[in-house]
Amino acid sequence: MKHRIILAIAMMAMVFVACENGKKGDMTPDQRFDGYRDRFIEDLWRLEPVWASMVGYHAYDSVLPVPGPERTDEQLRFCLSHLDSLATFKEEELGRSQQMDLRMMRDHLKATIWGIQTFKEHDWNPSVFNVANALDAVINSTHAPLEERLTTLRGRLRSVKQFYASARTMVKDPTREHTELAIQQSRGTLDLIGPWLTDTIVSCALTDSVKKLISTDLDSARKGIEGYISFLENDWLPKLQTKARSPRIGKALFAEKFSHDINSVHHAQEVFEMAIAAKTDLHQRMDSLTRQLWPKHMGKMAMPADSLKAIRMLIDTLSHVHAQPDSFLQAIERQIPELNRFVTEKDLLTLDPDKPLVVREEPAFMSGVSVASISAPGPYDKDRETWYNVHPLTGMEPARAESYLREYNSYILQILNIHEAIPGHYAQLIYNNRAPSIIKAILGNGAMVEGWAVYTERMMLEAGYGNNSPELWLMYYKWNLRTVCNTILDHSVHVLNMNEEQALDLLMRQAFQQEAEARGKYRRAVLTQVQLSSYFTGFADIMQLRDEVRKAEGNAFSLKRFHEEFLSFGSAPVRHVSEIMLSGRSKKD
Ligand code: ZN
Ligand code: ZN
Repeated sequence: MKHRIILAIAMMAMVFVACENGKKGDMTPDQRFDGYRDRFIEDLWRLEPVWASMVGYHAYDSVLPVPGPERTDEQLRFCLSHLDSLATFKEEELGRSQQMDLRMMRDHLKATIWGIQTFKEHDWNPSVFNVANALDAVINSTHAPLEERLTTLRGRLRSVKQFYASARTMVKDPTREHTELAIQQSRGTLDLIGPWLTDTIVSCALTDSVKKLISTDLDSARKGIEGYISFLENDWLPKLQTKARSPRIGKALFAEKFSHDINSVHHAQEVFEMAIAAKTDLHQRMDSLTRQLWPKHMGKMAMPADSLKAIRMLIDTLSHVHAQPDSFLQAIERQIPELNRFVTEKDLLTLDPDKPLVVREEPAFMSGVSVASISAPGPYDKDRETWYNVHPLTGMEPARAESYLREYNSYILQILNIHEAIPGHYAQLIYNNRAPSIIKAILGNGAMVEGWAVYTERMMLEAGYGNNSPELWLMYYKWNLRTVCNTILDHSVHVLNMNEEQALDLLMRQAFQQEAEARGKYRRAVLTQVQLSSYFTGFADIMQLRDEVRKAEGNAFSLKRFHEEFLSFGSAPVRHVSEIMLSGRSKKD
């Protein structure tokens, strides 16, 4: 369920309101705001050229900012001055879209200041210093011919050495875990600009003298990265074996990071308690479905007294219903039109895609993080189609392929398609593309995006998808339990000092996961903070908003209208969407 989607949210219909015509005095507050917002975006890209390249804005592709106190000051000045400018607008004078932009811009600036002044990740996480994205966004892009991109790349390559020299001075109190991660990821960056790039330069159409210049810059960049790796390996790692800062960030920082990144209706502690309650509820539902389904699938075999064991045995049996390696992609492809039909027939959401979803084999460079993912066009390459990448199972070692296929069995595959495609991520993107401002795409909220996809799984089953099959419900609950346990794990690791053994008990015994998945999840929880909580929090916030809107509207409530109004805000935080949607309704009563 890890997605590459968070930054790459599509913005197909980008319309800038031209407000330079007409004098300032003639402008409506919305026009004045729109003009300011466009300047804000320009300033943002000048300050953050790597981020710009990653979303497909290529004007600053040759620039690589060097970390250090000067850059930090520049970022702070940017935030403070734009917070001042934002304060000159009165929210109540602005339209809904502008109000939302204003809130999202303000949140982003405040979160950035908090990161610099309080969280200080640069001090303790050496993996934040990595030029992979900066180089990848130029090398592996298709926006310009290869020769032009290689020439542009020189600008960045030339700064790499200085980038890492400065990074070394900023690493103050690293954790062992993040130091190991930084070493591993820096090796990945060396691969990214490895021998294949040398070959590419040799065989391209540039002149020999230019090729030589690029190759020299490339060598220098590689030396910079190698130097950083040996600095971490030799100067830090030995010391860190005996004594090092903990990667667990503790209660106060976790709560603050949660409020900045997730931007929920609820505090971190409340969400943790909600997740614990959800786990108990899911266990009860799964227990009663298991009792109901046991004779049908397990025959005369005695049902274990331990409910969790019985559930696991039934799930293992049901997991044998699955596609074959060579029909896996087709199984996904076939379901898309069925989901489309169901959503339309049940009147859940209007679906009229500008461009159809293209199911394809995952390209090799997107190494298998997940079995399937949506890859959406960035805000600036709006003409590209949306891909549904499926990890190829043919050619995989048979035992591994079988384990994948059991995990993504015929029941779970349907839930996955709801989540990734219709009416999950892909459908949300279509609505996001219609949102009138690019801010919602650039500063899109991950908890809203994931929360929507997780919400649609429940909503579709409630609407009768799968004919209310108890087997599908059971497997859905297992899937949903993963989301719930991600939140429990995240909070427990950072706030309650949960160790690996306790984590494995939670994920394997209580959430029915395989050991490899559970160990990988524990590692991810240690290395990241808050992101694992985004799925459940977004889901819970949307469920709550739906209840409140239904209560306010009574018999007039329409699920389709709720969905479409909710999605019309683009990928905005659910907290703000809730406030704006509910404020319109409470006045009516
Ligand atoms: Zn099998
Ligand atoms: Zn997702």
